[in-house]
Amino acid sequence: MNILVINCGSSSLKYQLINSDNESVLAKGLAERIGIDGSLLTHTPAGKDKVKLEVPMPDHKEAVRLVIEALLDAEHGVIGSLSEIGAVGHRVVHGGEKFNRAVVIDDSVIKDIEELSALAPLHNPANLIGIHACAENMPGVKQVAVFDTAFHQTMPEKAYMYGIPYEYYEKYKIRRYGFHGTSHDYVSARAAEILGKKREDLKIIVCHLGNGASVSAVKNGKCIDTSMGLTPLEGLIMGTRSGDLDPAILDFLCEKEGLSSSEMNTVLNKKSGVLGLSGGLSSDFRDLDDAAEKGNKLAKLALSAYCYRVAKYIGSYAIAMQGVDVIAFTAGIGENSAGVRADVCSYLGFLGAVVNEEANKVRGEEKVITEPESKVTVMVVPTNEELSIARQTLALL
Ligand code: ADP
Repeated sequence: MNILVINCGSSSLKYQLINSDNESVLAKGLAERIGIDGSLLTHTPAGKDKVKLEVPMPDHKEAVRLVIEALLDAEHGVIGSLSEIGAVGHRVVHGGEKFNRAVVIDDSVIKDIEELSALAPLHNPANLIGIHACAENMPGVKQVAVFDTAFHQTMPEKAYMYGIPYEYYEKYKIRRYGFHGTSHDYVSARAAEILGKKREDLKIIVCHLGNGASVSAVKNGKCIDTSMGLTPLEGLIMGTRSGDLDPAILDFLCEKEGLSSSEMNTVLNKKSGVLGLSGGLSSDFRDLDDAAEKGNKLAKLALSAYCYRVAKYIGSYAIAMQGVDVIAFTAGIGENSAGVRADVCSYLGFLGAVVNEEANKVRGEEKVITEPESKVTVMVVPTNEELSIARQTLALL
């Protein structure tokens, strides 16, 4: 069966059509600038060149229609009829406390996702638009919601509660939820599989280091802690997000700089992280690596502060799990940056980690990067959220 995986943002829509029998990607693509001038659909059929279509996409319904048209196209299409799409799996950002696993979408699930928009005002409404657009274009095709927060629902209360008045949890459900759950779940399961062990027998720390970044502690197959919180702003220093900081800074800066709370929010989400720390140089680690090599002090500072924070989280999760067997690096930076991995691992000697420098040069491949005698196995495991969404979708049919 073919499963269409959709990740819908407010003005974009990423898709992959996956053949669930052999887990191959038949086609993938991105619709950009939906509802804005200059809409663009980039469609890549497996084994063929990319096709770029500059076509007006006034709304997501039209974007989904064009995606289906591209999938069916005589030249660059990959299926003969709509009936070859067996189901649609949607990435949904916030499942709150309601969803601890993927679910088949019906009216009551839509209502729940709507209600959870209070916790993810930028994401859940966009995810819902994608769900409605698919329902309109593919009536009768089953749709499944896979939540970014679901895997972290096993965290114990002591890990997810903030030290603020309990009534805010009761009134507004203010607590830590965590994100990138599909990736943390996939990577921890895959790491165990590669090592020929059961995830249930391992203590695994997953470092998902992409534009957004988070660390999770997966003990005996269950997430017991993760670095992102109520929103994806908490935790690590990221590309443009601050991660953890003293909450008093907000008030201080708002007053000194005359910022409104929404302007402050923009500073913390879009102008901070390694971009901010490097004096506005870049949020991309390739640029920072180049600049640091040429001696740029702020690029060096951004990189070392970034790695130090990752290492501190690893240390705290080793304590939380009372040990660690496996540390897995994933996502754009985790999979590709040997420099970041080496710097993070330079703090891990006390855990008995012995990294093999040659093995650490790997990029985007599954590989153990520690020596056989290393007490903790450090590895690179490329994430595959789309495949995980397709698998979870299939499992519900
Ligand atoms: P997201 O899915 O969160 O948008 P990705 O997981 O694709 O992000 O990660 C994107 C980031 O990966 C880029 O911003 C860049 O910093 C980093 N990256 C990609 N390739 C490399 C590389 N070769 N070396 C270092 N960093 C890289």
